[in-house]
Amino acid sequence: MKKKIAVIGSGFSGLSAAAYLAKAGNEVHVFEKHDRPGGRARQFSTEHGYVFDMGPSWYWMPDIIESFFADFGYKSSDFFELISLNPQFEIIFSQDKISVPQNLEELKILFERIEKGAGLQLEKFMQSAKFKYEVGMQDFVNKPCHNWAEFISPKIAKSAIKLDLLTGFRTYVAKYFKSEKLRTLMEFPVIFLGASPKKIPALYSLMNYGGYALGTHYPMGGFYQLVLAMKKVAESRGAVFHFDKTVECINTDNVKVKSLIINGNIYEFDAVIASADYHHTETLLNKEYRNYSEGYWQNRTFAPSSLIYYLGIDQTIPNLEHHTLFFENDLDVHIDSIYGEKKWPEKPLFYACCPSKTDNTVAPRGKENLFLLMPLAIGINDQEVVREEYLMEMLSRIEKHTGITGLRSMIEYKKSYCASDFVSDYNAYGGNAYGLANTLCQTAVLKPKIRNKRLKNLFYTGQLTVPGPGVPPSIISGKIVANEIIKLKQEKL
Ligand SMILES: Cc1cc2nc3c(=O)[nH]c(=O)nc-3n(C[C@H](O)[C@H](O)[C@H](O)COP(=O)(O)OP(=O)(O)OC[C@H]3O[C@@H](n4cnc5c(N)ncnc54)[C@H](O)[C@@H]3O)c2cc1C
Repeated sequence: MKKKIAVIGSGFSGLSAAAYLAKAGNEVHVFEKHDRPGGRARQFSTEHGYVFDMGPSWYWMPDIIESFFADFGYKSSDFFELISLNPQFEIIFSQDKISVPQNLEELKILFERIEKGAGLQLEKFMQSAKFKYEVGMQDFVNKPCHNWAEFISPKIAKSAIKLDLLTGFRTYVAKYFKSEKLRTLMEFPVIFLGASPKKIPALYSLMNYGGYALGTHYPMGGFYQLVLAMKKVAESRGAVFHFDKTVECINTDNVKVKSLIINGNIYEFDAVIASADYHHTETLLNKEYRNYSEGYWQNRTFAPSSLIYYLGIDQTIPNLEHHTLFFENDLDVHIDSIYGEKKWPEKPLFYACCPSKTDNTVAPRGKENLFLLMPLAIGINDQEVVREEYLMEMLSRIEKHTGITGLRSMIEYKKSYCASDFVSDYNAYGGNAYGLANTLCQTAVLKPKIRNKRLKNLFYTGQLTVPGPGVPPSIISGKIVANEIIKLKQEKL
């Protein structure tokens, strides 16, 4: 029987949940506090003609994204053109740099040049990473993770050792490579998972496969094209989007959600899926209905917040790739400032994205769209004056790398974004950018649950629950939660 379902938030997880639930024949309404979809992946344009993606820029694991479209009879190419970047990205060290080629065979040659035998080691590493990717994507990632019993199967038992669940990522990488540069290069993808490579299980070397082997892609028109495409898919199945609608309260009786208060009005639903940040959703409930206490959240390891600058540069910048990692300083020292001392880093690392190198629709002709991102501790004091100091540091390192001078004077548009903006825009706990870190103690069944323990028709999705942070996992999260509801009969809701 058709159910009336509300989805709170229109980030990737909300878009995905809405699409699958509408496909199953439900009446689906998505309520989004902003004036457009996408959540952390929104896009904005400036009067000077720059178009900025606000969040994600690394389009990895294209097969996962493709399988979303396939579930609805589409391909991504029905909506946007996807470019495979070559080089995938450049990583800058204090003395030299590595350009990561599109082709894995070329990457092996490059590894061999840096360290004798490392080409073959990379091949072995990637074979194992491919295995983990396939098992992970087929047998692990789609589970609702109510309990460990879901993971008991002969196939999983057989592959348990090969999955390296109990080995730390850093130790694992060190078994393959001696060169510090190669180790850093291999550790970089798990930084997306929001914790130090020391704390991340080696299982996540599957990310190296999902990135380096499957390639780094870019949707022409920007990452936002994926948001727009997913919205179209959801709408094609009947989902209705309501923008500038903030959910202010979740009303309950003893066992169920009865209604939502949205912009001061009451609306009743059979079920509610919250894709807003988990902690925030819980604050919309009376305390006795929350899954977790404040103490629980304080004891979680959150993925970092970030300082971001969106810059319009009124000239082209030479010698700069689409993606560049400025890793001239020690990774561990920066990571310690995020998780240990929780302060602004003294010797920061940062990332620069210049999509106008690939796409002439995101900046006016002869100009550049420059996005800078520096990971930071959550809850940090982020006054504008401090942000600006770090901007100066990042600009001088870009000048040094590219050989240009006077970059500051070329800035035609500038907007900063930091922890307090994540709080005010997304109700993000501590201003987190990427949700919860995928440490071993926060993986699978140990993540915040997708169902409310007392209210049988309230569900959670998004980067703070299973399977975790990132665009592909958020899309999968929406599918998992939709399937949970589809499985339930009307009387159980
Ligand atoms: C700067 C940055 C860079 C990133 N880079 C990458 C990358 O390169 N590659 C990658 O794969 N991933 C990347 N990520 C991670 C990825 O973007 C996220 O994991 C993903 O977008 C999260 O989607 P979500 O649906 O869980 O949450 P969100 O996108 O946060 O969506 C939640 C939605 O809920 C809305 N909302 C909140 N409260 C309410 C309320 N009370 N009422 C109504 N609506 C509400 C919010 O406005 C928001 O639209 C990045 C993230 C950031 C922030």
